[in-house]
Amino acid sequence: MSTRIWMSMGRLLGIGMIMGLLGWSRVVTPAEQLLDYCRQFRAIHEAIGAQAISPDSAERAFQEVMVGLRQSFGSRSDSCRVGSEGYFVFPLRGQVPRYSIGGRGRGYKPNGFDLFDNEVRGSHPAHDLFIRDRNQDNIDDVMCQPVDVLAFTSGIVLAVENNWHPESERRGGNYVWIYDPCLDGLFYYAHNKCVAVEPGQWVWAGDKIAEVGRTGLNAFQERSPTHLHFMFLRLTPNALPEPGNTYDWLLSASVKEWEWWGIQEEGEGEEESP
Ligand SMILES: [Zn+2]
Repeated sequence: MSTRIWMSMGRLLGIGMIMGLLGWSRVVTPAEQLLDYCRQFRAIHEAIGAQAISPDSAERAFQEVMVGLRQSFGSRSDSCRVGSEGYFVFPLRGQVPRYSIGGRGRGYKPNGFDLFDNEVRGSHPAHDLFIRDRNQDNIDDVMCQPVDVLAFTSGIVLAVENNWHPESERRGGNYVWIYDPCLDGLFYYAHNKCVAVEPGQWVWAGDKIAEVGRTGLNAFQERSPTHLHFMFLRLTPNALPEPGNTYDWLLSASVKEWEWWGIQEEGEGEEESP
């Protein structure tokens, strides 16, 4: 081989090494990987709702995404302070937990729940959190303001829907799914009027994620009082979802007070629930 060819090969190798050192080679960054998990999660959720995927396939796809997510946040678990002061923030701003939680917690019915089978009905592995809205205009009757939906714990926003319309058959309406790596579980906030976060975004407990609304096939009907449907699914070691009862957490959560004309009161967000 001629010297010239050896020189060009050497040059190419050199350029390749420099690019590698500078990180120019094509690698998937953690942020891109995370957004990919978010996209997959939403696609699975939507396919289940549209009955476009078999429960078995949905389960396998879900497991794969959750195992990946769990791994990407593995290093964070050292800094978890589950149950410490302020870990849980009541998901509705300015509402008193014991009056807001439907049926004093008896609305929670986990039996028979299957996240992957849209045909299964009858279970309600969630708490409905109500606001005072007799005329059903999504405005709190006493405060004359919309009610903010707040992140119950910190986590990563996995999927949102913000375009629900009354002709849609979807039950959750405008929803938000958040993964909490400390609890290794998913929170689902449904029936929102509008959503204020995006997939891939990190939220802290108490951050505004939506406003309470009446979206969703049943929540939209007149017979349904305005509420937030709030569900928690803990992941098993196999990364499968298992309903968890959040009643005690909700009762002990910090309550974030109303904001007055956009100005936060001193000590805001720290008031203890009764
Ligand atoms: Zn509900």
